Amino acid sequence: MKNNLNHGYDGLLIVIEGTDGSGKSTQVNLLSQYIIDRCYGCTVSEWKTSRLISGIINEAKEKNMLNTTTYSLLYAADYTDRLENEIIPALKAGFVVLMDRYIYTAYVRDSVRGHDINWVKNLYSFAPKPDLVFYLNVAPDVLIKRLIAKNGALDYFESGRDIGLSTDIYNSFEIYQKRCLDEYKKLIKEYGFIVLDGTKSQDEIHQKIKNEVEKLLNSGKIQ
Ligand code: ADP
Repeated sequence: MKNNLNHGYDGLLIVIEGTDGSGKSTQVNLLSQYIIDRCYGCTVSEWKTSRLISGIINEAKEKNMLNTTTYSLLYAADYTDRLENEIIPALKAGFVVLMDRYIYTAYVRDSVRGHDINWVKNLYSFAPKPDLVFYLNVAPDVLIKRLIAKNGALDYFESGRDIGLSTDIYNSFEIYQKRCLDEYKKLIKEYGFIVLDGTKSQDEIHQKIKNEVEKLLNSGKIQ
């Protein structure tokens, strides 16, 4: 049931995980620049960006047509399409592949939406195991401030409004994100997450990530 398929490709698979607003894209951008500066090929794959599936998910979300199972299965299809068409080809070509969210996002969100975690793990059992997973830990009250400053509002799904936690979006966001953080916490040890305090400065976090990635680059795992 556990995802333990070492990928065995020439490249490296590095994941940055965390809740919405935890600083993932910021760190992915900084890290990709560092990897490119080190003269390695680098590609980024973001959650829900499959050309085949993401439009369907967006449309279904807009019309509020997703139940928890179709939600899970469509996201799994999005991941699978990116795996086949972006991630594996880049790994085979010896690239460093940076993932802005990975299967752990599905573990967390689907569990919070009521699915048995083992069902979700089984759904993604073919997923290659990453070489490194960084997890940005940030409390909901900080996330709210960041997301309001960035987007001017909170997202319906990122606030768990689809599962009826509260009619007040701020309250719903806090409950939902707290549940997500609790689910992430359960995965830390099992999947060897490197936990980072996401409230530190962007540069401080980047230095920590860079140090770990540097060790991996120097380990001879990638040429
Ligand atoms: P995510 O990709 O996880 O949703 P972002 O990287 O888009 O998060 O960051 C969300 C917001 O928080 C952005 O406005 C970003 O500039 C800001 N941010 C990112 N990292 C930090 C940090 N370490 N400290 C304070 N603000 C941050």
